[in-house]
Amino acid sequence: MLDALLFTKTSPILASLYPDCLWKVNTKEKNLYLTFDDGPIPEITPFVLDELKKWKAKATFFCIGKNIEANPEIFKRIIREGHSIGNHTYNHTNGWKHTNLIYYKDIQKCARLISSFKIQHSAYPTPHLFRPPYGKLKISQYRALRSKYKIIMWDVLTFDFDLKKNAKSVLSAAVKHSAPGSVVVFHDSLKAKPKVEYALPKVLEHFTAKGFKFEKL
Ligand SMILES: [Zn+2]
Repeated sequence: MLDALLFTKTSPILASLYPDCLWKVNTKEKNLYLTFDDGPIPEITPFVLDELKKWKAKATFFCIGKNIEANPEIFKRIIREGHSIGNHTYNHTNGWKHTNLIYYKDIQKCARLISSFKIQHSAYPTPHLFRPPYGKLKISQYRALRSKYKIIMWDVLTFDFDLKKNAKSVLSAAVKHSAPGSVVVFHDSLKAKPKVEYALPKVLEHFTAKGFKFEKL
């Protein structure tokens, strides 16, 4: 079973056990890959988009289907502004707690919704990117999904979703552990909102000053 949530920085050993997942982009270029899970929602996703625009940054949004359905205009804005979209299931379903059939159906429901928007943009539809909610995936699910989706895990987890962590620790996790090619996890969720509002502008400023670019997956 895959459960990568425990550490801020993903260990190469864990990553090597799941070689068909993307943990980090293999590059020496100063590129960072910011990812935002669990949106889109009006309380924080527009803030994230405004900040990314200010710094000419691109990112990847792993959207929950039911949030796309509730907030289609924000979803369309993500696409229009040239970011990538990934599938994060329709109901934020935990792969460990459900049968494979229920899990795959939830992913398909989100996939159908993502591809149902009639938007003309070079970035849409995006390649099949998938991130399992909670980072939890049974081996059988990993094997079944890896041929259809690029499964995106991460190199740096900021713990912005953790109510026990404060905004400064989220910022320092991102600053301390990100390196060329890092895939960094944030959340555009209510739980993460105050921490993202604090940390994201500073992360963008810090790494831009160091010559990094922010790219989408
Ligand atoms: Zn999630």
